[in-house]
Amino acid sequence: MNSDVILKVENLKTYFNTDDGIVKAVDGVSFELHKGETLGIVGESGCGKSVSNLSVMKLIPSPPGKIMAGKALLYGENIFDMTSDEVRRLRGNRISMIFQDPMTSLNPFLRISTQMVETIRLHQGMDRKDAKKKAVEMLQLVGIPNPGKRVVDYPHQFSGGMRQRVMIAMALSCNPEILIADEPTSALDVTIQAQILEIIKELTRKLGTAVIMITHDLGVVAGICDKINVMYAGKIVEEAPVDDLFHDPQHPYTRGLIKSVPRLDKPHKGRLFSIEGQPPNVIDLPDCCPFHPRCKQALDICRKKYPPETAIGEKRCVSCWLFKEGK
Ligand code: SF4
Repeated sequence: MNSDVILKVENLKTYFNTDDGIVKAVDGVSFELHKGETLGIVGESGCGKSVSNLSVMKLIPSPPGKIMAGKALLYGENIFDMTSDEVRRLRGNRISMIFQDPMTSLNPFLRISTQMVETIRLHQGMDRKDAKKKAVEMLQLVGIPNPGKRVVDYPHQFSGGMRQRVMIAMALSCNPEILIADEPTSALDVTIQAQILEIIKELTRKLGTAVIMITHDLGVVAGICDKINVMYAGKIVEEAPVDDLFHDPQHPYTRGLIKSVPRLDKPHKGRLFSIEGQPPNVIDLPDCCPFHPRCKQALDICRKKYPPETAIGEKRCVSCWLFKEGK
């Protein structure tokens, strides 16, 4: 394994058994995360972006969910082979997560100091005094004013944006190698969103933390990520460095996503573009390109077989028959 690769996910398949059939939420996903890199995973709701990362953390509720196949190699060690205790030690310590709504992760009955100090003591083995000092330092780093005083407040005494800052401070307090941020700004208004993204970008670069940024919002990944994986119906359909993806998207779905983002530099008259149709029902998906009912360039073969992954250049891949059959 390339020594620069921290996390390598190979052919991950996570399915959910439901009364209506098997939901193939993640169906053969592979990607690599390198040291200090920020990887964006984008796609519409239900495309499998969150489930793939919850699988890596072994946080899939089972039943009904099950990791059917694949590996998640952290420095070559398969997380799926680890015991529950080993995975518990890994979470928060080597891989941290922040979610859309910080209130789902913060305990409303405990002071911020209690929650942060316990996390730091548990994972870093510090005594209470040093752990509190570290908690205050982290709150200062994320821009909480008067952190020495605010650290003893309860979550409800912070605004939404400030709570998300607290979550970032908590997630980074144990110097994890990887931060998984799952829609971290979706519940915030735009000005606060920009501040939170800037904090994540600055802090993770400073601390050398690699980031997986999960979002449906292409605007979020444009300013913060190094490379992007676009997901559709449980699979990665295009992966590319961020500039290549925005300037020259290849997969018809990616092109549609980018076209539907409002541009300030190219004002558009009339209605904003949207991709026609709906994402497919991922229960018992047929083995063809699931985007074909929405794709204006669909070929006959698209309705029969799933397209293989095609490398286009050194760092880009796309799964689309147009790149096999000639554009
Ligand atoms: Fe469109 Fe076919 Fe490519 Fe799917 S494989 S995106 S249907 S052209």
